[in-house]
Amino acid sequence: MVEISQYKTLRDDIAGVSVAELAANYGGTPLFVYDAAKIIQRCAQLRPVGVVRFAQKACPNIAVIKLVKEQGVLVDAVSAGEILRALAAGYRPEEIAYTADIFDQDAIDLVVGKARGCVVNVGSNDMIEQLGLRLGDSAKGLEITVRINPGFGHGHSRKTNTGGDLSKHGVWFEQLDESLALAKKYGMTITGAHMHIGSGSDFEHLATVCGAMEKTVRALGPQIKTISCGGGLPIPYQSGEEFIDLEKFAALWRETVSKLEKEFGHSITFEVEPGRYIVAESCYLVAQIRAIKKQAENLFYLVDAGFTHLARPMMYGSYHPISIARNPANGPVAVDEEVDAVVGGPLCESGDVFTQSEGGYVEKRRLPAARVGDYLVLEVAGAYGAAMSSNYNSKFLAPEVLIQDGVAKLIRKKQSFEHLIANEIF
Ligand SMILES: *Cc1c(COP(=O)(O)O)cnc(C)c1O
Repeated sequence: MVEISQYKTLRDDIAGVSVAELAANYGGTPLFVYDAAKIIQRCAQLRPVGVVRFAQKACPNIAVIKLVKEQGVLVDAVSAGEILRALAAGYRPEEIAYTADIFDQDAIDLVVGKARGCVVNVGSNDMIEQLGLRLGDSAKGLEITVRINPGFGHGHSRKTNTGGDLSKHGVWFEQLDESLALAKKYGMTITGAHMHIGSGSDFEHLATVCGAMEKTVRALGPQIKTISCGGGLPIPYQSGEEFIDLEKFAALWRETVSKLEKEFGHSITFEVEPGRYIVAESCYLVAQIRAIKKQAENLFYLVDAGFTHLARPMMYGSYHPISIARNPANGPVAVDEEVDAVVGGPLCESGDVFTQSEGGYVEKRRLPAARVGDYLVLEVAGAYGAAMSSNYNSKFLAPEVLIQDGVAKLIRKKQSFEHLIANEIF
């Protein structure tokens, strides 16, 4: 049965711990609060699909990576920093994949050094050349995988499309002969094919991706041992939306895998590489309402979190469920009423609005009537939330707390002023 999402607009607690208490105990707001149970649940649901690899870029806190690791999940890294995070979380290099369209100096140093043995998933033929040149004789016998751009992508957002002739990602499907030749030149073998297109719940489109994968893998040859469908598994951000039918998703890919296994006469490992699906729902960004303004007919809730803490609404016009947690210090409310409010942040930037649609159009949200001092919780903030935080306006990175079995634990301290300016020379 397909699960339906349901988000509430009033809450007292997160994973059994009072919101007011969390704010009081962890240095106030804004505060990221993660519910470990959600992460564990999503990992368990993915297990029957194939080998699961966490795209840590969605949420790279090492405590979160460790939790995911405990669920038997492998990890993907897209930068030197992410490779180092994976190592710090206790992953062995063989359990880490480095996926990128280029090698920067730090990354190539790591994959031939401290992280030697990690899976290098190349998104350009230049990467094969550079790796071969760097390793020289010791490139012989090395197995690499290729991220392929099959010539088409998915989705309408220019910023999130991951395939097609306007995408910078992956090796263009018509240039794989060159990939094979370059690998051969250095004695390396391409043993894996990767396509991160993100069809989501669009199963018709997914069938097209499976078809493209089959064709491409046949062209690459029977030395292919692993195929990866990348990430892009969607989760519902609004109430009433359906969760993805993972069984159907897995069945489509299983068909592709078994066809190729028959043709090649050996088994093929299937990998899925989600970021969002594993962590999105686990996290709540707790902010506090610091001012309530009326600009003509428009009511504004101004909170102490901004796009420096959660950038998705500003970047993509993404919708996040919002709930209000009353501050007990405000005393009881006589009647629960609702209002239409715009929710904005503290930044000196007009785009700092959480209730906006794609293109930057400010919208109103039906929310419980609230008072200054009440908490406003931006929900489903675990994917590309804390991960995309910035220090713009010299805002301090917010602390992160993980709740497991009813116990809250600080997993990142609030950034200090000393840390903020640590690398500045004056
Ligand atoms: C971003 C990314 C993912 C994860 O995408 P989600 O939409 O968060 O699942 C997986 N693989 C690669 C290569 C990525 O760049």
